[in-house]
Amino acid sequence: MSTLEDRLKAQISRTGPISVAEYMARCLLDADDGYYTRRDPFGLAGDFITAPEVSQMFGELIGLCLAQGWIDQGRPERFLLVELGPGRGTLMSDILSATHVVSGFAEAAEVWLVEASNALREIQAEVIDHEQINWVDNFADLPDGPVYLVANEFFDALPVRQFQKTEMGWAERMVGIDNEKLVFGLSPPVPPPLGAETQYTTGDIFEVNPQAHDIMAQTAERIRDFGGVALVIDYGDWGSSGDTFQAVRHHKYVDVLCEPGTADLTAHVDFRALAGAADAVNATALTPQGQFLEALGITIRAERLIGAGAQRPNIERDLLRLTSESEMGALFKVLGFYPNGAPPLAGCNL
Ligand code: SAH
Repeated sequence: MSTLEDRLKAQISRTGPISVAEYMARCLLDADDGYYTRRDPFGLAGDFITAPEVSQMFGELIGLCLAQGWIDQGRPERFLLVELGPGRGTLMSDILSATHVVSGFAEAAEVWLVEASNALREIQAEVIDHEQINWVDNFADLPDGPVYLVANEFFDALPVRQFQKTEMGWAERMVGIDNEKLVFGLSPPVPPPLGAETQYTTGDIFEVNPQAHDIMAQTAERIRDFGGVALVIDYGDWGSSGDTFQAVRHHKYVDVLCEPGTADLTAHVDFRALAGAADAVNATALTPQGQFLEALGITIRAERLIGAGAQRPNIERDLLRLTSESEMGALFKVLGFYPNGAPPLAGCNL
């Protein structure tokens, strides 16, 4: 059977270069050969480790933050507990176990998972212990109701379009073929991408994530209309940071165009663009993950786990991994959303 690379090349030969976003979407979610469609990429033996896979403390504190939001907004008696891109289901599982202490929360929660990969849905069904779990392909498919939502390393997996400033104005970065190899090229001139102001000079790259914008805008409208909160955790910054398109295989950076479908492709999240899309509600300040977890009491939680018999060196190692500035504590950031007039989110800077 032909590989995804063969099929992409055949398509490009037939109909011309494709955008970086189309390339990224095909590599990640192609029905036969997509990176997420086919495999479980997590863990030591996989390609990368996410915060919930590092330690249960991460999901437990996220759970308590969501539950505090639920209490602050009058404990709605039915709500959607939503995770975007739940991976192995570890985060949702830890959210549910930590929130058992919050009276009424679990009973009021309907679990809704937005997940494109059937392979990962099967793992999630095994890992998450809840009476009723629902899956949808798209955020727009969720039923009405208050939404308490978390997305960890989800937005970085959504396809970005890249635009480059040239002598002749802006052009879109495309994936084409040269000498039978996939290569980057540029489209004919296009109008300036929305948000790319005048400070850009020739050679600069500006990334736009249309799907992230749409999902964030829909999330905000739902929070405005029905109540709820959203927590977005990811690596990225306030604004577009140039070319952040990257590929990781077996915990190492590799060429993004090499062996499509076999490496994790991501781009840094532009939190300013997310906040702009969510203007229907309040946003917290962008908060480094380390500060967020400390404010929610991760050090106390770590001591409790040690007191309950967990190995001190392991817990301390995981704590550092999640919070230290030289590990995940500063690169990863948290942005929270909540209705106008509601109390702000626990753990997030104002
Ligand atoms: N949140 C998890 C996994 C992050 S990996 C964790 O922290 O461990 C990204 C997840 O998003 C995977 O579950 C992947 O299958 C899913 N995903 C990627 N693109 C998606 C899309 N367009 N729609 C729905 N799910 C998607």
